[in-house]
Amino acid sequence: MNRAFLRSWEEFNLQEIEKSLLVIGELSADCYSCHKIGIDLKAHVCPGCGTNFKYIGFRKKVDGAYVHRLKAEMPYAVFIDFEDFKKATGKNEARKLLDI
Ligand SMILES: [Zn+2]
Repeated sequence: MNRAFLRSWEEFNLQEIEKSLLVIGELSADCYSCHKIGIDLKAHVCPGCGTNFKYIGFRKKVDGAYVHRLKAEMPYAVFIDFEDFKKATGKNEARKLLDI
């Protein structure tokens, strides 16, 4: 099959991501919304705040094969670049401060 996972640019609602983002690290994951740590990598729901994870970000470097495996287990998830997300939210925070 001539298919592969490639990263692409898309516009997202940052507030929506902030509310339902699971951030995957080396051994466990954390909830971006309530900051609970030590969450199972394949959790669908946050054991801390009960949010349903829709977005997945990564603190580690991942490749297409890893995302492919994860996607098979979490077909509902949207995989985002966590660095992009942090940059985007950082910019928004700066903009808010400038508006005051
Ligand atoms: Zn949570």
